[in-house]
Amino acid sequence: MPFSNSHNALKLRFPAEDEFPDLSGHNNHMARVLTPELYAELRARSTPSGFSLDDCIQTGVDNPGHPYILTVGCVAGDEESYDVFKELFDPIIEDRHGGYKPCDEHKTDLNPDNLQVRGPGRGGGAGPRGGAGRGGGGGLGRSPPLRLQGGDDLDPNYVLSSRVRTGRSIRGFCLPPHCSRGERRAIEKLAVEALSSLDGDLAGRYYALKSMTEAEQQQLIDDHFLFDKPVSPLLLASGMARDWPDARGIWHNDNKTFLVWVNEEDHLRVISMQKGGNMKEVFTRFCHGLTQIETLFKSKDYEFMWNPHLGYILTCPSNLGTGLRAGVHIKLPHLGKHEKFPEVLKRLRLQKRGTGGVDTAAVGGVFDVSNADRLGFSEVELVQMVVDGVKLLIEMEQRLEQGQAIDDLVPAQK
Ligand code: ADP
Ligand code: MG
Repeated sequence: MPFSNSHNALKLRFPAEDEFPDLSGHNNHMARVLTPELYAELRARSTPSGFSLDDCIQTGVDNPGHPYILTVGCVAGDEESYDVFKELFDPIIEDRHGGYKPCDEHKTDLNPDNLQVRGPGRGGGAGPRGGAGRGGGGGLGRSPPLRLQGGDDLDPNYVLSSRVRTGRSIRGFCLPPHCSRGERRAIEKLAVEALSSLDGDLAGRYYALKSMTEAEQQQLIDDHFLFDKPVSPLLLASGMARDWPDARGIWHNDNKTFLVWVNEEDHLRVISMQKGGNMKEVFTRFCHGLTQIETLFKSKDYEFMWNPHLGYILTCPSNLGTGLRAGVHIKLPHLGKHEKFPEVLKRLRLQKRGTGGVDTAAVGGVFDVSNADRLGFSEVELVQMVVDGVKLLIEMEQRLEQGQAIDDLVPAQK
């Protein structure tokens, strides 16, 4: 799909109503917010690097809906986009992030010791949870009884793998929908240099997409380590797939438990993952690795895009704040078919996907279950919601296995 919207001046020859996109069949956050009046007000603006309103919204215009999730329908092209087009982004952010207001402040907590995995009766930290966040929406309000198999694990009979990811953007560079080839290559170079300093368990190497064989690339995708090829219309229509595979790649440690995607949807995607249900270990590695990466960039005088209101600034407004998606691949053959499953997930502030990624449906009763929120909750709070919620989902699955009802386990509506 071609991507060239930056001929803003030419468009201004026409009245705004002649340029307003047809959003009549659309279901995404952008389409809900963008009125002809707002379009007319914002369309002549552009960021210092030249990102326009039409550049922001093109992905939402070309993708009226998504089969599995409610998409945002717009992207940022640089750090300033969120400010220059705040009349568009603020209501979208409020809509997507559960009422997060322009005056709200985000919080960060990357201390894995604050995550409570063991519950009462196991001698582990039964202390206060990470906190319920805004409006008390975070905690479950009760501690689900535990069926832990041992240590800190979520029951590996159900939880096949655990993963935590976030994105980071390097200040001073345009974001993937708008960066030039030179910028993209510079980001790759910076990332590879910084990551080469990681040592111990995190030591690894970089694999550029360009130097991989087709089979190697496909294997990494099939094993859930690497981003998909640019097949997603969301990626294509936003301009993020330009010049593919130039300056894209994956860095990972030797046993593929700590991985960094370079120049996909964000400058960097930092991932910690492993088989089984030890989310504490996954989150601990995530926090340590991420903190080290930030320090390495700082030592080269680069910082990540961040501000007190939006937290970490990323390409998609859905990822602002923590950018964190903590999730498990979990077997729920009974609950997955239960009529209350969608409502249970919603009340636990969780989201489901297929195990092949955001564009896939779940097969065989195995789901990717992760936190739905990113902004207004700290990293620890979000991972806590996943840990607590997954324990409850497992308990429900076990009830259903026995042919018993789950009604008393369904969390109350907030
Ligand atoms: P994101 O963009 O949030 O990282 P996607 O839904 O695009 O996630 O998936 C990217 C890849 O990560 C896919 O191959 C997916 O199967 C894999 N993945 C996501 N969660 C897990 C998990 N808990 N365990 C193993 N692989 C996972
Ligand atoms: Mg993705």
